[in-house]
Amino acid sequence: MKRPTVIIRHCESYDVDRIRALTREGLEHLDLRPRGRTLIKPNVVASGEYFPHAYTRPEFTEGLVRALQDRVDTPLEELAVGERCGITMPTRYAFKGAGYYPMAKRTGITLHHFDECSQVEIPLYHEGRLRDSFFTPEPVARADFFVNAPKFKAHPWTTVTFSMKNYIGIQDDRHRLIDHDHRLNEKVADLQYIVQPQFIAIDGIIAGEGRMLTPIPFDMRLVLMGDNQVAFDAVCCHLIGLDPLSVDHIRMAWERGFGPVDLAEIDVVGDVSLDAGRDRCKSFRTGLIRVEDYFKDTNIRAYAGPPPDGDQEYCWGGCPGALEEAIEILRVYDKTTDEKMPPVHLVLGAYEGDIPAAEGEKVVFIGDCASFQGQIHDKPVTIESVYRDRSTKVPTEAKYADIFAKMVTTTATMGKLKKEDVIRITGCPVSVAEQVLMLVKLGHLKNPYFAPKEAVMFTSSYLSWRTRKMVKELFGKPYNVEGPTERGEARPPQNLPPAGVDAPLERSGG
Ligand code: SF4
Repeated sequence: MKRPTVIIRHCESYDVDRIRALTREGLEHLDLRPRGRTLIKPNVVASGEYFPHAYTRPEFTEGLVRALQDRVDTPLEELAVGERCGITMPTRYAFKGAGYYPMAKRTGITLHHFDECSQVEIPLYHEGRLRDSFFTPEPVARADFFVNAPKFKAHPWTTVTFSMKNYIGIQDDRHRLIDHDHRLNEKVADLQYIVQPQFIAIDGIIAGEGRMLTPIPFDMRLVLMGDNQVAFDAVCCHLIGLDPLSVDHIRMAWERGFGPVDLAEIDVVGDVSLDAGRDRCKSFRTGLIRVEDYFKDTNIRAYAGPPPDGDQEYCWGGCPGALEEAIEILRVYDKTTDEKMPPVHLVLGAYEGDIPAAEGEKVVFIGDCASFQGQIHDKPVTIESVYRDRSTKVPTEAKYADIFAKMVTTTATMGKLKKEDVIRITGCPVSVAEQVLMLVKLGHLKNPYFAPKEAVMFTSSYLSWRTRKMVKELFGKPYNVEGPTERGEARPPQNLPPAGVDAPLERSGG
């Protein structure tokens, strides 16, 4: 295997010409040229005024697009940018808020909204996989030259979101929500078998600390580039003083032979040395905080028991992290959120301790796996887990999580609180959007989805998304269930472990 390279470059600001020059030099150094169908996957999980540091900025993507155009020597079939933004939100809304439509017009590229694309089945063969296949949008499966363009951020579910974690956006909601729980790191590691990027360029000019949707801006002024996803993420970890093997999805990909984490096996080059970069990033905070600690000193008391399967103490990839992101969204929209929130008790997982709720204080059990037996308000309460084993979740039967439908069901569930002090919200996971709605009801807060500044853009994006999706489902091919296209077929890039891997196991409903 070729020795992986990671290039660290200083970049003072979001200047398109500077980013274009840097990324073109990166492509030249790695001797890379785009070809055939070239697809860039940025991170546009959320965008706009309220989420200014959550996404790969359009100036960054434009610089990268122009650098790729500079390197074209044979006409491309397509140069495109594709993404699936945060669960339940229309990608059209995220692209609008991120300024991607004018960027696409200026550069002449195509935008793919992965939530509107046909899905292609990619078989998996490796030992220890969660499922026997994944579904991914057709543009990903067909890409000849794949460019990963993440944002440098902390993450409440997976510690960090660099290159590998950016792959959670190469699935639409139906497939993304499956295994988005305490198996999330395994899922991210499995996603690596779909495609490996030829080129990676991360937006670390203003990085994001602490969280993923509402991160705290961190003035990093770096652009990193590379040609191997594990090596790349390892160097990003080293920059912030984190052991790459402490991040489970990086460790698993390393164990499976996707690339090295040892700096002795990686060529680190550029105009910023690793030591100088470390110095710049030494105070960067990641985001792995248990939910009980996250809400300390607020009126919210959170209690977390273990998730199902018995091998983990905490569900790092599901409801607890979504709850943390949900409160931060509300804090961004309304600075007085914490003052308005009455004392409430939120319970996750199989919780066995006490719930010291005073008379009149509401108790909400969050998630399918929540369970409890004990006294609340001096009355006996039993909450049984309704968790469905993952083997029963069939991707082709999974339904879209419609945000307006969720508003109706969550509002109806929360309506029970008028009469009852103890309720449960089901789901695995209960998404950030649903938990925002739950907190809105508990705290009598304003619903951010109806914020005047956002409502028109949100609704028009939603209607456009649903209409196109409906037309596709009526007249198009929502799934290519016969298998991957020729191009998409497990096309292991040079650095995938030999496909050699054992024969497929019996299908487990995947
Ligand atoms: S219900 Fe929530 S907490 Fe339980 S396993 Fe699923 S995602 Fe994790």
